[in-house]
Amino acid sequence: MPIIDVLSARFSTYDKMYSHEVREQSFADWPFREECNCTPEKMAKAGFVHCPSENEPDVACCFFCLLELEGWEPDDDPWTEHSKRNPNCGYLILKKDFIELTVADYYQMEKERLKVYLRKVCHQKMAYFRDGVDHMLESLKSQLDTM
Ligand SMILES: [Zn+2]
Repeated sequence: MPIIDVLSARFSTYDKMYSHEVREQSFADWPFREECNCTPEKMAKAGFVHCPSENEPDVACCFFCLLELEGWEPDDDPWTEHSKRNPNCGYLILKKDFIELTVADYYQMEKERLKVYLRKVCHQKMAYFRDGVDHMLESLKSQLDTM
């Protein structure tokens, strides 16, 4: 599936993932359980949702900042890994539990989540555009070379 479609699918369904329980349920087939740092409970607590693919069984994605991580090791601490890669994630810096959020807090967070998603989609579209321009330049150069 193209990256933008994956981002869109995650953005539109992850509004349910504010709930720790729903995030933890996504880890039903998670390989790390006993005597690990990255148990389903800790993964969910750090904001991650399990989103495996056929070739990548241990992909986890933050429901809020859409940071995607794979290649987990049993000793990895999910909160540390998340904050190392995106210390400004709106979920990580949240000082309240979901049930303590006011409606205003929730809409503020949804606004931030939308901005994160739109920023990622724009970056991806710019990358596709740059690739298209590079491809066109190469094509034109090779046409010039044959004249
Ligand atoms: Zn995040």
